[in-house]
Amino acid sequence: MNKTIYFVFNVQNKVKMKKHLLKILNLGLVLISIPAITLAENPNDKNESNMKEFKTTEFPALPYAYDALEPYIDARTMEIHYDRHHRAYFNNFVAAIKGTALENSSIEKIFSEVSKAGDAVRNNGGGFYNHVIFWENLGKGTSKPSAALAEAINQTFGSFEKFRETFSNAAKTRFGSGWAWLYLTADKKLAVGSTPNQDNPLMDVSPVKGIPLLTIDVWEHAYYLKYQNKRADYVEAFWNVVNWDEVNRRYAEAVK
Ligand code: MN
Repeated sequence: MNKTIYFVFNVQNKVKMKKHLLKILNLGLVLISIPAITLAENPNDKNESNMKEFKTTEFPALPYAYDALEPYIDARTMEIHYDRHHRAYFNNFVAAIKGTALENSSIEKIFSEVSKAGDAVRNNGGGFYNHVIFWENLGKGTSKPSAALAEAINQTFGSFEKFRETFSNAAKTRFGSGWAWLYLTADKKLAVGSTPNQDNPLMDVSPVKGIPLLTIDVWEHAYYLKYQNKRADYVEAFWNVVNWDEVNRRYAEAVK
């Protein structure tokens, strides 16, 4: 029996499509026929959709508008931070790896041997990657830690409040410029720490090592326009705009 299936596609459907279907999307409602066999679920597709591969060749869009985090993080800071600081790190990183063996490496692989790669790769690669994690773990909404993450936080820190205090202290006491992190260690335990400059816990040079789950940028460019020298106020405001859905996703992925 010739299995042919007819489908109606709506342009608004955010369905992942095979490349050969993309060209018909702008026709709106269309009737097409394709062999049923091409529609069989590929288990790899599912894995792909659950994983977020970090692309070293793309400057990702900010996942929300510049003013989305007002009043906690102001629009002007977001615009300058994303479009100038972050973009410069990306451009300089791409220039630093161009034509080298690192060009086709994953970011994780690059960071795991970053001590050999030189300061341009370390500083700009970190600057590029850290900001992507930071933008993604920010958002305004009603998300909260998943049951699994909440339990791990309680086990490690005693309570959510103790965790928040530990993380905030790491952010407030990082001398000069850097980042504070919640990360998962190699033995799958939660830990909090901070890194200087644009280093991160994936780097072989970092004193804290693991998979990043949540981060805050404590460079002055992240808060100076609104908070001036009051880093502590910025750190407290940060808790109003943590996108726990993303942190939960990263945690679930990391503990696998
Ligand atoms: Mn920054």
